[in-house]
Amino acid sequence: MWSRLKAWRRSRILASAQLDERAWRLAMQRFAYVRAFSADERERLRELTILFMHDKRFSSAHGLRLTDDMRLHVAVQACALILNLGLEYYRGWREIVVYPAGFVPRHQHVDDAGVVHEGDEVYAGEAWLHGPVILSWADIAESDYPDGVNVVIHEFAHKLDMLNGSANGYPPLHRGMDRRTWSEAFSAAYEDLCARVDAGEDTILDPYASESPGEFFAVLSEAFFELPDVVETEYPQVYAQLAQFYRQDPLARLDGLRRSSAPRVSTDRAGQADPAAIGGRPGPGRRR
Ligand SMILES: [Zn+2]
Repeated sequence: MWSRLKAWRRSRILASAQLDERAWRLAMQRFAYVRAFSADERERLRELTILFMHDKRFSSAHGLRLTDDMRLHVAVQACALILNLGLEYYRGWREIVVYPAGFVPRHQHVDDAGVVHEGDEVYAGEAWLHGPVILSWADIAESDYPDGVNVVIHEFAHKLDMLNGSANGYPPLHRGMDRRTWSEAFSAAYEDLCARVDAGEDTILDPYASESPGEFFAVLSEAFFELPDVVETEYPQVYAQLAQFYRQDPLARLDGLRRSSAPRVSTDRAGQADPAAIGGRPGPGRRR
């Protein structure tokens, strides 16, 4: 009965949706990893996006005029993550707040000496446990290029991680996935990246991943979609776990796209993306 009601509600929303066709076509062209989607995947992405925009509430802050294109820009990417998971993976929260640019959250934390600190670092995005996703439009707009830094993917990956508590790099795994295999793959890769960052190496993966296991999962999710060949080359076990978790294989898609057209991201013989071809390493990343 419940599932029939849900299916009825879903078909009602889809039937009455008014999605601007021109805006949709532009959104499909905007992101390299979405361009690689098959016709069937695009159709399912379209349905998910409509349902997502119906379920979630967008608002803006600091005077930003939020347009339909901006909402679509966020929604398409949020839904690309859950293409093979379903909208219920974004259950338990509703708000998406967009700031015009980086913002300073009014968080307080108390240190070991009992002193209350209020941060003054600029954030590009934030995801709250059971609460809103907060995004900086300036940082979103810069995330169009497949350079492995994508604040929308990052914050929505945190949301998936938070399905079973705080963002600790351990989202709820599917039946058939092994907790130990996940932990071993991610722990080894995290420790390796931290050691390379500590040694001053100019890593191709965003060093922000070394902040914590939770940030590692979110940053590796950004790279998984945008630079899957880099993740597969650097940490193949992590790539395999992410492919199982997201139920997607962006590298296979990218290979298909390269066979049918000129690549946007040049690769060296090891299959690793050339930073020069993607605009170099991102500068010191904002917190996200
Ligand atoms: Zn983060």
